[in-house]
Amino acid sequence: QLPIVAILGRPNVGKSTLVNKLTGSREAIVHDMPGITRDRLYQPAFWRDRDFLVVDTGGLVFDDDTEFLPLIREQAAVALAEASAAVFVVDGQLGVTAGDIEIADWLRRQSVPVFLAVNKCEAPDRGALQAAQFWELGLGEPFAVSGIHGTGTGDLLDAVLPHL
Ligand code: GDP
Ligand code: MG
Repeated sequence: QLPIVAILGRPNVGKSTLVNKLTGSREAIVHDMPGITRDRLYQPAFWRDRDFLVVDTGGLVFDDDTEFLPLIREQAAVALAEASAAVFVVDGQLGVTAGDIEIADWLRRQSVPVFLAVNKCEAPDRGALQAAQFWELGLGEPFAVSGIHGTGTGDLLDAVLPHL
């Protein structure tokens, strides 16, 4: 059984794009279903001689982007229970949202190590600043990444790897 890295975050932050980049997958982007019944998709990944699985947990859907619904929370907890590490993906171009804060508050109470991937940070002049906004989530260092361009994913995986 390979160690599992769970990817979570609100819809549209770029989870599927990032998963495809991390796994080298050429599969079409799997659209998040509105709801919680979609099966989780495990994809093999490889970094610095280590094999692991990346699972896209699907979007954590909110009511009005504020309420982290109990059923969704339960689904996320199931995904985290089997994971060695979690990557919480946020949108660096959008900035911190109420939903991000809710998920972060919940994640800090879980026992799995969490790494914060601030996606869409490909702009060389702004990426670091966009990522720095997310220190306020209290999840430690925000990693500036771009799922489309692949920038920053090496540093992120280097941080995750010791926990696998
Ligand atoms: P998901 O709902 O979290 O799985 O997000 P997707 O991977 O489906 O991406 C949502 C949207 O964000 C799409 O329009 C992507 O093209 C865009 N996107 C994803 N990653 C990046 C990125 O690194 N930079 C930019 N600029 N856009 C991105
Ligand atoms: Mg997706």
